[in-house]
Amino acid sequence: MRIFRRALLAITASVSLASFTPAFAQDKSLVGISMPTKSSARWIGDGNSMVEQCTAAGYETDRQYAEDDIPNQLAQIESMITKGAKVLVIAAIDGTTLSNVLDNAAAAGIKVIAHDRLIRDSGSVDYYAIFDNFKVGVQQAESLVAGLNERFPGVNHWNIELFGGSPDDNNAFFLYNGAMSVLDPMIALGDIVVGSGQVGMDDVGTLRWDGAVVQSRMDTLLSANYGDTPLHGALSPYDGLSIGILSSVKGVGYGSGDLIMPIVTGQDAEVPSVKSMIAGEPYSTVFKDARTLAAVIFDVYNKNK
Ligand code: BGC
Repeated sequence: MRIFRRALLAITASVSLASFTPAFAQDKSLVGISMPTKSSARWIGDGNSMVEQCTAAGYETDRQYAEDDIPNQLAQIESMITKGAKVLVIAAIDGTTLSNVLDNAAAAGIKVIAHDRLIRDSGSVDYYAIFDNFKVGVQQAESLVAGLNERFPGVNHWNIELFGGSPDDNNAFFLYNGAMSVLDPMIALGDIVVGSGQVGMDDVGTLRWDGAVVQSRMDTLLSANYGDTPLHGALSPYDGLSIGILSSVKGVGYGSGDLIMPIVTGQDAEVPSVKSMIAGEPYSTVFKDARTLAAVIFDVYNKNK
């Protein structure tokens, strides 16, 4: 993973892969690649990397995007099974909804690889390939604290708000817990105050990683808690949420006059966010190289064929 913070570039690539049984059959045939949505550039990159790796290894591919619609993803995976896929690479929308379709895949002898998001409640997953999401959360919180020190030195304490990812995505909890491992001690010391008091994934989670939901929540938080008190920062686990947070704070005047732009973190280094980071809006993002994830999957394939 890499943290981008305008001039700063920290490199800490780390991908891990849990294996249950060897995947990828020896006959090189169809690989089904099921991605959650095209609305985020990150998943387009992951889909492209998987197709490139598969094609280079001589496989046919069937890549589908489900636009964050669970029945759509189920239908797409069923269709891959019907078409005769030998391997399924799946980034699940909701990690608990695929049990039946994956049992069908297992019954047909198809290997299943969970791509970046854990597939839960299924005994039919052969591999789970992920980035270290706890570490991403740590990096997000560390960059938030670095930004607060840089942009708001000498204040008595920093006022921040917390935003979490989708509660049906296991990664959201690792990201949040990683970030809070850095922030909790500072909150306990009073160096950081969560102005709304909203802490914990039950209060700060965002179903389907929806930026519009976050924008509306930030609007409410600002009007309820930041009349006379400045907001200094927001922990955001994903660039798409950061855009919503930034739209909200800009809407009440932050970034102009006396209202200094708060420090807002992010993840995925999506092009619109990187461009607006250069313009001084989000403070940081974490880049996770999809090519590394795809390469790890194929490394295991090569060792097991
Ligand atoms: C991924 C993140 C991504 C988020 C929203 C998570 O499962 O790990 O990289 O930002 O989903 O798409």
